[in-house]
Amino acid sequence: MNRDFTEAELHRYARHIILPEIGGEGQAKLRAAKVLVIGAGGLGTPLLQYLGAAGVGTLGVVDHDTVALSNLQRQVIHRTADVGAAKVESARRALGEINPEVRVVAHQARLTPENALALVSDYDIVADGSDNFATRYLLTDACYFAQKTLVAAAILRFEAQLSTYKPHLGPPHPCYRCVFPEPPPPESVPSCAQAGVLGAMAGTMGAWQATEVVKEILGVGESLSGKLLLYDALDARVERLAITRRPDCPLCGAQPAITSLDSPLAQASYAEVYCGD
Ligand code: ZN
Repeated sequence: MNRDFTEAELHRYARHIILPEIGGEGQAKLRAAKVLVIGAGGLGTPLLQYLGAAGVGTLGVVDHDTVALSNLQRQVIHRTADVGAAKVESARRALGEINPEVRVVAHQARLTPENALALVSDYDIVADGSDNFATRYLLTDACYFAQKTLVAAAILRFEAQLSTYKPHLGPPHPCYRCVFPEPPPPESVPSCAQAGVLGAMAGTMGAWQATEVVKEILGVGESLSGKLLLYDALDARVERLAITRRPDCPLCGAQPAITSLDSPLAQASYAEVYCGD
């Protein structure tokens, strides 16, 4: 790995490099890292801003959507002037202004069972900032088969959850399906568009997710694998639950029902309509 930094890089990352847990070696790891962020929305935009500012060398962004006025209450990378523009292009423009050292790869597409494996395979770590169960399950399965670590957050109203999944490393690491084997019925869970979401909470969780991505790249601290963080903003309370790998998990268990993205149980999980908010 190239550990040579320009004078400008040494200044830009000085507050990282001085940390014993990061140093020049850690900063070089960040520069060499490739992270794929799913969604340039509420979670994705603060996530991209912090990963870009931190000097993560390659940032992929997957989003098919355009910026809407109702996004700006929480999707802080986009400006009023960006309304109508592709979110991935708005994000690329903003990241270029924050840190021109970062290579941004814009994937203006929906994540689908057809493109998911190829997309995640090009990156080291995947961060899920999507807003729907279909994408969450698709990413869970694709990351398992492509052997990529997945850092996933979700927010709704005043509540959020966050965890890191790396079941490809074997026990004791659980996957998302160990905790939630199948999606809930679509009518039982409202979307952010239907139920609302506190804008600042997207920032709280996106920044927290960025912290966990950076920790995974550096290999420092305690991984969130095997733990589920639950945040209740109204109560200002965070809980950390232990989650365990299930021997009968449909994905990472001993006799998995899901052996590819084409497995019927897998396909059923992706059937829910993508709401794109
Ligand atoms: Zn599992």
